[in-house]
Amino acid sequence: MQKGQCLCASIHFQINKKIETIYQCHCSLCRKQSGTHANHATIVQANDFEWLVGQDNISTYKKDTGFTSSFCKKCGSPVPNQIGQTHLIWIPLGLIDGEIYPTQQLNFCLSSKANWEKIYLDSTDYEHLPTWNETIDIFK
Ligand SMILES: [Zn+2]
Ligand SMILES: [Zn+2]
Repeated sequence: MQKGQCLCASIHFQINKKIETIYQCHCSLCRKQSGTHANHATIVQANDFEWLVGQDNISTYKKDTGFTSSFCKKCGSPVPNQIGQTHLIWIPLGLIDGEIYPTQQLNFCLSSKANWEKIYLDSTDYEHLPTWNETIDIFK
């Protein structure tokens, strides 16, 4: 089990499963959403996720394309959100308290990474986003 919270601690959540796969997405949208070279996240099944407190403090911004960013109204931390109409929940790893020991680390959208970013990772890389079926398979 793994717990997470935002910067101001008004939003808390829990993941009832070991986190096996994490990824960084280096696309321009994820750079803006995270404020840095990439977002660093995992995806879990909705069954394995629960909000503990503070859901009222979540605000959500959605682009016309569907790209969605949810964040704490008080402190601005990105917070987990449901991916579209799926049963998958996106989790920003920086909110998780304690250590995690993933067995797989992936990079997405390396073809559009910022030129100032250097990557020093031993990981599986994708030049673009994986297809939806690949994504489901990766985070099953
Ligand atoms: Zn907060
Ligand atoms: Zn991205």
